[in-house]
Amino acid sequence: MTEQNVKLTVIAYYLSKFDVQGASSLGYENITTALRELSRIVGNGNSYLKLRRDEFDVLTNSHRRGYANRDASKYVLWMHEQLKGISFTDFTEIVSQLIYPAKLSASEHDINSAESIDGNLSNNEIEALINAKDSNSKYILIQSEQKRRVYNRGIIENLKKLYENRCQICNFSSKEFGASIVEAHHILPFSDSQNNDSDNIIILCPNHHRLIHQAHPEFNREQLKFSFLSGATLAITLNMHL
Ligand SMILES: [Zn+2]
Ligand SMILES: [Zn+2]
Repeated sequence: MTEQNVKLTVIAYYLSKFDVQGASSLGYENITTALRELSRIVGNGNSYLKLRRDEFDVLTNSHRRGYANRDASKYVLWMHEQLKGISFTDFTEIVSQLIYPAKLSASEHDINSAESIDGNLSNNEIEALINAKDSNSKYILIQSEQKRRVYNRGIIENLKKLYENRCQICNFSSKEFGASIVEAHHILPFSDSQNNDSDNIIILCPNHHRLIHQAHPEFNREQLKFSFLSGATLAITLNMHL
């Protein structure tokens, strides 16, 4: 499944479930416009989005009857399991960010809704800051106009919601313990790329995150797989946004 098709599948689920209300929340007058424009923006001009939406209709109790009443494919069933618990509000934000990653990513002018980071921090420090939830991390927040970098925490928080706080490699979730310990990892180091788009972020448990920072594996985007110098590999097994 290609990157755009994964995104389109998530968007298709959203439109199947939330229909007119969903289209309207994304800024479209009606479903037809939403299907046409979203297909165009996400980069697949054919009817893929609509077909996928139709496939989900059986599962989401849509008023439409679904894809000729055909049984849903394994992938569609799997996606439904992943996404069924996400609230309308959260899902709307997630889909917005999948559609417009650039618009919602780091912006020098958007200081109010984001936190600024000094440009001289190492990537490890930046990620530590981005992942830190407590105020102890503030000591590395430096009030400087020089090389200021800005990120939008909303993107990371929404990705964590999308994955229900599970690691995209091992699927571990601490949810049953009433805690969230997953972290955001930038595929291209944020310190170099300044890229905080959802396309550049994966959600990992602390173990896998630490491992990747210490061992510096190569990431293969096509295969969604890390290759280590030792020859070992680790694959992204849970993917709904890359
Ligand atoms: Zn993990
Ligand atoms: Zn990282």
